[in-house]
Amino acid sequence: MPSTHKVVIIGSGPAGLTAAIYTARANLEPLLLEGEPSSTSDQPGGQLMLTTEVENFPGFPEGVMGPELMENFRAQAIRFGTDARQEKVSKVDFSQRPFKIWVGDPEAPEPTYLAQSVIVSTGARSLMLNLERERELIGHGVSTCATCDGFFFRDHHIAVVGGGDSAVEEASFLSKFAAKVTLIHRRDELRASKIMQDRAFANPKIEMAWNTEVVEIHGDTKLAGVTLKDTTTGETRELDVTGLFVAIGHRPNSDLFADILDRDENGYLITGPGSYTNIEGVFACGDVQDHTYRQAITASGSGCMAAIDAERWLEAQEDH
Ligand code: NAP
Repeated sequence: MPSTHKVVIIGSGPAGLTAAIYTARANLEPLLLEGEPSSTSDQPGGQLMLTTEVENFPGFPEGVMGPELMENFRAQAIRFGTDARQEKVSKVDFSQRPFKIWVGDPEAPEPTYLAQSVIVSTGARSLMLNLERERELIGHGVSTCATCDGFFFRDHHIAVVGGGDSAVEEASFLSKFAAKVTLIHRRDELRASKIMQDRAFANPKIEMAWNTEVVEIHGDTKLAGVTLKDTTTGETRELDVTGLFVAIGHRPNSDLFADILDRDENGYLITGPGSYTNIEGVFACGDVQDHTYRQAITASGSGCMAAIDAERWLEAQEDH
């Protein structure tokens, strides 16, 4: 028999864990389905499990390591009674209440859990080049977030990969710290908006590497350069960089909710007002519904919003 819960939270990054802290303190005894260890991290906890030092999370004047920050979030959620389980959701059915949630075999006739309300906080992932050494060197020269890591690269030579708004924005941002930024794009024209292109072209610190791909990443414990390939001639060359920012797009982890929750053309869940989705009783927070800010602190703030929305919604149900 499936167990019934007032709130089930799916996903355990800053958004999900903050939602857990708030719903636990509201005596809603949340069940937090954290996900499972993956090929990129031996613990769930979202993108911060892949970072090293976090210097912009308020409250930590000396900075804090990403995994340590997430462990603190988790300990705080558990302290107030969150039931946290390292389980990965395989299917949901939100067509009627209580909502049905499966873990493991999605074809199993019985769901694993029943929920009066659900908070979706499954996050997003940065697209990667899928080159050897890339994952291992994240936080050691390879990064997917200029806002988070740019500061560590003062006076370095940095490469940024991509040709969209993200890549151009990151290159411009990084040029404030770096000695030089090489923007590596696989074609001979950028996809980014004209105004951002013009800004990048006018920036003396940004050098364009057109028709170029990164084919190898070097370094044992920290990034020690990359090999580039000219996509028109096939020629290769070495680029001596100490920072590599991969900015080729993000994907929200929303496939589980396809055809169930409203999504935009890029797959982000559509929320509003607040954290409400199109299904009453299902709320969404964090990067799975935010393609603009993508910061731990904003994800955390939206997790708080979802918890308060869920709490008030549950209260209103009881009043009826
Ligand atoms: P994007 O627009 O999808 O651009 C991705 C870029 O990465 C493209 O130039 C693409 O090359 C390149 N790319 C993809 N896969 C690659 C691979 N395997 N190897 C090398 N290059 C690869 O993604 P985005 O820049 O993250 O932007 C996403 C959305 O957010 C867009 O709508 C964008 O306008 C918006 N955004 C807006 C702002 C802003 O306005 N301030 C800032 C950031 C993002 P091709 O061009 O050859 O396909």
